[in-house]
Amino acid sequence: MIDVAKIRQDFPMLRGGKKMQGHPLVWLDNASTTFKPDSVIRAVDAYYEDFTSNSHRGDYDLCYEMDQRVLAARKAIASWIHADPSEIVFTAGATASLNLVAYGYGLTHLKEGDEILVSEAEHASNVLPWYAAAKLVGAKMRMVPLTKEGRITPENLEKAMSPRVKIVSLAHVGNVLGFLAPVKELAKVAHAHGAIFVLDGAQSVPHMAVDVQDLDCDFLAWSGHKMCGPTGIGVLYGKRALLEETDPYLRGGGMNVTFDALGDASFLPPPERFEAGTQNLAGICGLKAAVDYLSSIGMDSINAYEKELKRYAVEKLKATDNCILYNEDSEAGIVTFNVKGVFAQDAATYLNSKGIACRSGNHCAKMLPCHLGTPATIRASFYFYTSKEEIDALTDAVRKGGDYLDAYFN
Ligand code: PMP
Repeated sequence: MIDVAKIRQDFPMLRGGKKMQGHPLVWLDNASTTFKPDSVIRAVDAYYEDFTSNSHRGDYDLCYEMDQRVLAARKAIASWIHADPSEIVFTAGATASLNLVAYGYGLTHLKEGDEILVSEAEHASNVLPWYAAAKLVGAKMRMVPLTKEGRITPENLEKAMSPRVKIVSLAHVGNVLGFLAPVKELAKVAHAHGAIFVLDGAQSVPHMAVDVQDLDCDFLAWSGHKMCGPTGIGVLYGKRALLEETDPYLRGGGMNVTFDALGDASFLPPPERFEAGTQNLAGICGLKAAVDYLSSIGMDSINAYEKELKRYAVEKLKATDNCILYNEDSEAGIVTFNVKGVFAQDAATYLNSKGIACRSGNHCAKMLPCHLGTPATIRASFYFYTSKEEIDALTDAVRKGGDYLDAYFN
C-alpha cells in the first residue's frame, strides 16, 4: 500500500509548497524526469562533503572506500534486476547505453545487408544510434508494424523477422502511449531467428519489478533520473557473454590493462572495460540510494498504485467530455490526450497557467504522430508520489480549458 501523503514528505520538491504561476505545483511530467527524495540528495552531497576521491586510482583509504561504494552500488543494482554485478555498466543514461550497444556491439556484429528492427513508437534514443550504425556498415533499418491501438505483438514481430535481422531493439514501455511490450515472447521470437533482443527500459525499470533472466533480454538500458536518481547516470545491463564481445567505444583511463608505443592495447574485462575515464561517482552513490529507496517502498506496490492512478485519470478525463484519449487501455501511468479542438502545445500552456506541468508535442517519438493521426498530444505521466488531488487539478483545468491560444489544430 502506498501512503502518498507520507511519501511526499520525503521530497523537497513536493513538501515545500512549491508554486508555478501562483498555483501549487502539480508535477505530471514524470516520464520526462522525476523528483529526488532526501536520501538520494544526501547520498550525492555525502560524496562531495564526506568522501570525495576517485575510484581505483589511489592507495589510500578514501580511494578504497570509494571503490567499495561503487562495488556496493553495482551489486545492489544487479540484484535489483536479477543480474550479475559484472553485467552492470554505469553510463550517462539510457541514451548513452543504447549508443554503446549500437556502436560497441552493432558495428562489430553487423555487416552489409543485415537488418535492424525497431518500431515507429520508439524514442529517438532507440532509433538514431541504430540509423548511424546501420549507415556505417551498410545495414538496413526496418520497422515492426504496430497494431491499430499502437502495440507491438509477437505475431507482428514474427512477420517482420527475416534471416537478415540481427538486432531487434524495442521499448519495454512506450514513452508516449505507455503500452507494456510482451518482452518474454518478443525475445523468444528474436532469438528463434538468431537475432539479439535489446530492451529500452527507460520507462519500465523505474516503475515495475524487472527480472532480466526471466525476460531473457540481451541488453537493457535505462536512466537514473527517471527513477528518483540523479541526472547524468544510467545503466547498461548486458549478458556477460555479449559484453565480452562488445567493443568499448570509449577508450581511456580506468578501462585498459596495458598499452605500448606500437599501438597495442589490452582492456579490462566487463564492466570496467566500458567505463573509461572518471566515472560519475556522485551519480553512482545517488543511484544506489534511489534503488534502496524504491526497494523500501516496493516495486510491486509502486506499479499497482500507478495503475490505480491511470484508471482514475482516464475516468476523470472521460467525464470532462472535453478531451480525446489515445491510450485508455495502456498499462503504464501515462495518459496521452488532446483537449477537443485545441492544439496540444496551447493546451499545455494553459495547464502551465494553472500550475500544472504536462509534456506536449511528439515526446521524442517523431514517427508516432503519423500512426496516431495527430501532430501532437499532451502527456500526463504519474509516479508513486502523484496524488489523486493532482489528477483532479488536471481534469478541472481540462474541463474548463477552451481554445487558449487559438493556434491551428486539425
Ligand atoms: N527511451 C525512452 C523510452 C525514453 O522515454 C527516454 C527519455 N525520455 C529515453 C530513452 C532517453 O533517456 P535519457 O534522455 O535519460 O537518456
